[in-house]
Amino acid sequence: MNAGGRDMTGSADRPRDPDCVFCRIVANELPSTRVAEDEVAIAFRDIAPQAPTHILVVPRVHIPSAAHLTDADSALSGHLLAMCAEIARAEGISQGGYRISTAVGKWAGQTVDHLHFHVMGGRPSRSTAA
Ligand code: AMP
Ligand code: ZN
Repeated sequence: MNAGGRDMTGSADRPRDPDCVFCRIVANELPSTRVAEDEVAIAFRDIAPQAPTHILVVPRVHIPSAAHLTDADSALSGHLLAMCAEIARAEGISQGGYRISTAVGKWAGQTVDHLHFHVMGGRPSRSTAA
């Protein structure tokens, strides 16, 4: 996909990492339960869900984290967030509300060094539960 003359993924500068779990899921070398995909990203169920609905939205290209996004990735970033919202609608968690989050680095709890957005919903979050 092309945005402003630049490939949306910048894939030429972003080779896949053969040791990266999410690169391997993108390449179908490891199994996953996919709920959506297009030419830019895939979405699949988290293997250790932290909410009744917990889906990961992952760009096909290897980007280590949100800290590696630049202005040139604005189309890609918007596309990933729109995919999160679309999945939330498809999963029926939109009305109650849901969380989109991404960890950057060790102290934030990032365990897979390939950019991903968590989409979590299906029950009130702890901060709002009575
Ligand atoms: P984070 O800890 O924020 O980097 O998120 C990584 C997420 O990936 C965690 O919630 C894991 O449960 C999830 N995860 C790791 N390996 C897999 C896998 N093979 N399939 C699905 N989800 C995975
Ligand atoms: Zn990767």
